[in-house]
Amino acid sequence: MNQKTIAVIGAGPVGCYAGYLLAKAGHTVSIYENHAQIGCPIQCTGLLTSEFDEFQLPMDSFLVNIFHGVEVFSPKMKLMVKQKEYLVCRNKFDNFFADLARKAGAEIFVNHSFLRKEGKELIIKDSANNRDMRITPNIVLAADGPLSPTAKAYGMYHPKRENYFGAQAVVLGNFDPTKFQAHFGREVCPDLFAWIVPESSTKARVGLAMKKNSIKY
Ligand SMILES: Cc1cc2nc3c(=O)[nH]c(=O)nc-3n(C[C@H](O)[C@H](O)[C@H](O)COP(=O)(O)OP(=O)(O)OC[C@H]3O[C@@H](n4cnc5c(N)ncnc54)[C@H](O)[C@@H]3O)c2cc1C
Repeated sequence: MNQKTIAVIGAGPVGCYAGYLLAKAGHTVSIYENHAQIGCPIQCTGLLTSEFDEFQLPMDSFLVNIFHGVEVFSPKMKLMVKQKEYLVCRNKFDNFFADLARKAGAEIFVNHSFLRKEGKELIIKDSANNRDMRITPNIVLAADGPLSPTAKAYGMYHPKRENYFGAQAVVLGNFDPTKFQAHFGREVCPDLFAWIVPESSTKARVGLAMKKNSIKY
């Protein structure tokens, strides 16, 4: 096998799962994550479709709730869509994939941010030691999320790409834990939709996504 040195930027589920597969295939994999901890801060609701069953993941390690349907609300009507969905703890979910990658031999460096590229060199800031490192991997994998500084540095980020920005809170109240809700409409959330996703009968993840002004809505 032609062994490569691979730098994965971003230790989210995509970076860690790719890192796992590449390390398992015999490559030398280093994963760089700008935060101090994997899976923190949480920037996700944590819904997974049951199509994930195909991966045969040990769901009990990160499962919070199972839904049997979603209630969809528009200003004029409400409908119930029956489907099985999982709610996971994203912190545990991300760490599951990080452990998988480590066990396969990948090294994960937290507090390490991709800053820029200079020719074939990548400049990585090691913020724990306040120093810049220069690395020259054979392959760079941009798994640094929707705003991907790495994709931008390599000219692979579409200039007209539009992002939605989510805002979410965990709230206490009375909820039906067997289903979650999606709310559409100009008043509620004109750009995309809002959601109420119960962790239990007393706690829910409530949020929405907009192109801008998410917090205001
Ligand atoms: C409010 C909200 C709710 C969501 N709810 C859901 C949901 O219910 N279900 C669902 O499937 N998806 C949901 N998503 C989307 C989901 O979070 C992403 O699709 C998923 O996290 C993508 O995984 P990823 O590994 O590609 O990127 P990410 O999870 O974003 O991981 C990228 C990693 O790269 C790191 N990084 C960024 N820049 C650098 C850098 N310069 N150097 C080093 N590291 C860097 C980041 O810190 C992060 O850890 C939601 C998103 C938001 C914002």
